[in-house]
Amino acid sequence: MANLICFSIKVFWDVSGRGQGLPASCNGPGYLSKITGRKNLVFSKALSLKKSRFTEFFIRENILDEHVFKEWIFCPGMLFNAPDKWWGDKGKRETLHEGLDLCFYSDRAGGIHRLDKKTKIPVMYDGMVVGIINDFLAKSVIVEHSLSASDNTRFCTIYGHTVPNHGLCVGKVLRQGDIIGTLADLNEAIVNIFPHLHISLGWTSKIISYDKLDWYTIGTPDMLTLLDPLNFMDGRYGLRKP
Ligand SMILES: [Zn+2]
Repeated sequence: MANLICFSIKVFWDVSGRGQGLPASCNGPGYLSKITGRKNLVFSKALSLKKSRFTEFFIRENILDEHVFKEWIFCPGMLFNAPDKWWGDKGKRETLHEGLDLCFYSDRAGGIHRLDKKTKIPVMYDGMVVGIINDFLAKSVIVEHSLSASDNTRFCTIYGHTVPNHGLCVGKVLRQGDIIGTLADLNEAIVNIFPHLHISLGWTSKIISYDKLDWYTIGTPDMLTLLDPLNFMDGRYGLRKP
């Protein structure tokens, strides 16, 4: 708790709903019917993955009281494939959101806490760092997870808007829960957005050159097929109106 700032919920949103699975807009047959057969296969494969213990690691590494942490708090613009921003003028994004933004969580007394520059970021699965690239706020760390030795399919998680740990470099082998860095200290007066962790994840169906993976190519069909990070995270979450 000491590493995180608490502020009043009334500044933000009213409760509109909460859930454990995908939001309605990204779930069920309607969603699946929009993706191709190949992606459908990949999507099914991904769903068979065990959920990461990311939230458990997050609580442990940030020395939060597991009885105080209740759930992650999201507004619609933070979710995967969201068309709108959750900051600034809350207008349209240039592209659909490529991942999930983690910025707030609630405690059992109803307080809302905000992640800050001291927030430590655990990696979701065992893996190896394959890239550290610039994003529009700070650095993004790309980690490859070899979950299947039977084919070339590989799974990647990407952690955006971070300050990677000293010594973190391409080739570094990680165990699940290892800390890769902290959140970038954004100048809120200039960028008008709170420090937050962006998580993207997806499958690549072939050997790709990670040199070519950046925020312009992530999510393109021949690079990475993006999936909803909420499907791969433990812990509860609540949805709020902006
Ligand atoms: Zn994001």
